[in-house]
Amino acid sequence: MPDRSGRYPQEDSGWTLSSAPGPEHWDDWVEFDTAAWPRRVARHYSLVPTICFNCESGCGLLAYVDKSTGKIRRFEGNPMHPGSRGRTCAKGPATINQVTDTERILYPMKRVGERGSGRWVRVSWDTALDDIAARMRKALVEDRGDEIMYHVGRPGHDGSMDRVIQAWGIDAHNSHTNICSAGARLGYALWHQTDRPSPDHENAKFILLISAHLESGHYFNPHAQRIIDAKSRGTQIAVFDPRLSNTASMADHWLPTWPGTEAAVLLAMANVIIEEGLHDRDFVRRWVNWEEYLRARHPEAYERAQSLGGSAPGSDGVDVFFEVIRELYKEFTPEFAARESGVPENQIVEVARAAGRARGGLSTHVWRAAASGNLGGWQVARCLEWLVVLTGSVGTPGGTNLAAQDKFVPAPFAQPPAQDSWNELAWPREYPLSHHEMSFLLPHFLKEGRGRLEMYFTRVYNPAWTNPDGFTWIEVLRDEDKIGCHVALTPTWNESAYWADYVLPMGLGPERHDIMSQETAAGAWIGFRQPVLRTFRERNGETFEATWEANPGEVWEEDEFWIDLSWRIDPDGSLGIRKWFESPYREGEKLTVDDYYRWIFENSVPGLPEAAAAENLQPLEYMRRYGAFRVHKDSYRFYEKEVGEQEDGVEVDGAKRAGFGTPSRKLEFYSATMVDWGWPEHALPGYIRSQVHWSHLDRDAGDAVLTPTFRLPTLIHTRSSNSKWLVEISHRNPLWLHPVDGERLGVRNDDLVRVNTAIGYFVVRVWVTEGLRPGIVACSHHIGRWRLPDGPGADKWTSGLVTLSEEPAADGSGGRWRVRQVEGVQAFGSDDPDSSRVWWTDAGVHQNLTFPVQPDPVSGMHCWHQKVRIEPAHPGDRYADVVVDTARSHEIYKEWLAKTRPAPGPDNLRRPLWFTRAVRPTDDAYRIKD
Ligand code: SF4
Repeated sequence: MPDRSGRYPQEDSGWTLSSAPGPEHWDDWVEFDTAAWPRRVARHYSLVPTICFNCESGCGLLAYVDKSTGKIRRFEGNPMHPGSRGRTCAKGPATINQVTDTERILYPMKRVGERGSGRWVRVSWDTALDDIAARMRKALVEDRGDEIMYHVGRPGHDGSMDRVIQAWGIDAHNSHTNICSAGARLGYALWHQTDRPSPDHENAKFILLISAHLESGHYFNPHAQRIIDAKSRGTQIAVFDPRLSNTASMADHWLPTWPGTEAAVLLAMANVIIEEGLHDRDFVRRWVNWEEYLRARHPEAYERAQSLGGSAPGSDGVDVFFEVIRELYKEFTPEFAARESGVPENQIVEVARAAGRARGGLSTHVWRAAASGNLGGWQVARCLEWLVVLTGSVGTPGGTNLAAQDKFVPAPFAQPPAQDSWNELAWPREYPLSHHEMSFLLPHFLKEGRGRLEMYFTRVYNPAWTNPDGFTWIEVLRDEDKIGCHVALTPTWNESAYWADYVLPMGLGPERHDIMSQETAAGAWIGFRQPVLRTFRERNGETFEATWEANPGEVWEEDEFWIDLSWRIDPDGSLGIRKWFESPYREGEKLTVDDYYRWIFENSVPGLPEAAAAENLQPLEYMRRYGAFRVHKDSYRFYEKEVGEQEDGVEVDGAKRAGFGTPSRKLEFYSATMVDWGWPEHALPGYIRSQVHWSHLDRDAGDAVLTPTFRLPTLIHTRSSNSKWLVEISHRNPLWLHPVDGERLGVRNDDLVRVNTAIGYFVVRVWVTEGLRPGIVACSHHIGRWRLPDGPGADKWTSGLVTLSEEPAADGSGGRWRVRQVEGVQAFGSDDPDSSRVWWTDAGVHQNLTFPVQPDPVSGMHCWHQKVRIEPAHPGDRYADVVVDTARSHEIYKEWLAKTRPAPGPDNLRRPLWFTRAVRPTDDAYRIKD
């Protein structure tokens, strides 16, 4: 048995076993070579901490660098990381596959021939950088800064890119947020400005999850380990999910809600909590803007509440509010919610009681899932947070905090001023409340002639594959009138890079610098991603000018790319750009990554200089050594803090307190902002019937709801296809189908079906299972990668070889596209002998191509769930066939666009000033001037 430190007692030789080497051993860790067994051959390793880059969680990794070869042998968890605490999911250790992937891009490539012809030549970095810089300089000098766009998939860094873009002085940021989390973000932001929750699962009395957070959700590994810790102490878990996920299977209560009906169930639960007196009346009295609500909507009730003392301590005024909302929400009975959702009434009541009894300790989370599948999905988050508020669990131990309290982003040196411009290609007037950029509509905007792009950077982003309506992306990506130059910054080939002008290899997680912090538990930490081989060789006395010198091939890291590019854009400093990329330590000289992070660690991270000094280290040395630092332990009940006269705050119980970032500085049950911006009917937590509500379906005719968003624990979007271990485990995405539906359709396991969407269809095999409800089908979104016969393409470990054909529409508005698979995954020759041992053949099906864009008119979130019609495959249909009509997809885009209520809002604003915005411009830029 191991002792309390996890170490095994030694037997005879001075050798011990341990669960994780402590940092005192990291300079020279000795292990026996497993390949030499049964001989005891010692191997010496240098252990270098870095941060996993396979999902958003930012878990700590330890790279084991073999001192004799100078090569990374493997990755394990970093026990010094406060978020992940030494643990990883399968994708962390699989980073080694990505580093050694024989398919990766090692040198800059430039297109020759037409875009999409698949012909490339290797070029020098100087050639690429000079060309890109010259185009950007010209655009900036000619006041065409809005033709430059940086479009990021997985950011993986905190703050550094915002600084770069603001140094250029333009509004160039675009993200993937609106295909990911915009729905939940708006729901949370309306309550308290912060648009993400930070559930304290570890200390929870009850955990309520909407989706599969235990096995694959947001902050997967850090959250999962804390949920399980709580569960093993007796905390109960409830899960809303139409699919019997592994998370639902571990829950005490599985509520298989019909997609999009979750808000109805949550409102019924709120009613039960109030009716049974389980709510925290005093917390609501003090912290909810109920008086503002009564004053605006129920003046008589407001007067009555005031006559009882309003929100003063000891007053009964708040009871008037509860009277009003009992009446207001009376239709949301458990019986109604059961009819809407299909979840039994008694189960709704039982979970409501459990949540209510957890008063002060209700830990909840919704991220993608229901909030990103449905029209009005943002109300799911708003209603879920209503339970947190009602039970007084906001920012409490075991409750649900705000992300801003548990995430720490240190300031860099010399922050450039906010840009005084607004890019309507990312932030169109139709979506003033969106969270955030309307990224997935970009090709439709370009098709409509709303603008053009001279320089389009895609970074860790594969828009043609990941977004809905990928063929519209391809139509635009290949059009040089719409996109002058497309630069794909990526470690691997992908479906979108195929239509780029430059493909520039950027470092994988262990080949670059970044600072990361995520709200994975109570308290805040920062993690330091660092290039492992550079750090290892610097430990041994070598010096480098740039990280690529220590990376494989000529793989750059982005920090150095942007610094170098910015110098080339403004070589003499006349544009005012270069100064932001000069060293804070050596006047007039080019900034280095050491300068950048050294300054931050010395000046912006409270407690770090002292912790470093205690070990006779400089702060940068400390972070290179440990890879992470805990900034603070918790920030419970931050809003109660008393503040000074000059500070922002709100009076509560006779004291001025910090409160929240909303206009009222209270939790906004009633949103005057929604009223002011044209959505008065949605000013309160409410229920909006989804585009896939059961009443819209003709089940007898084969209609079903497709839920296409669920993650597998072993894969991550398109990012994990360069890991042979992971794709060996997961390489199929069959359609989950209930036996009742299978019987009605006359299909059995592995039969082919055609899944018809509004713009086309895909052909897929079915997996008949009772793990979801009749009428609902499900297909995971990671799989279905493809490559074309000409030129390089997506990794052969995972992609099928396909042909594309196209019949353009007569009016040029789009075309009819067809994908046909020539062959699935095959063994292939490479320097990795495993590539000849590939045994799987299934490359999956690319379903997203067949989805029209469905932007929620309020949050801007793409509503992923699809109403589909399923039928047995037609004669001639082949597995993985995809057919799409992009003219039709553009029509559907316009139908959804017509649901919006565009800016301006009050004061001619484009967006409420109090709403957060990525890379926020000046307040003046928020105003429409034409
Ligand atoms: S949860 Fe995410 S960051 Fe953590 S090890 Fe897994 S993939 Fe990496």
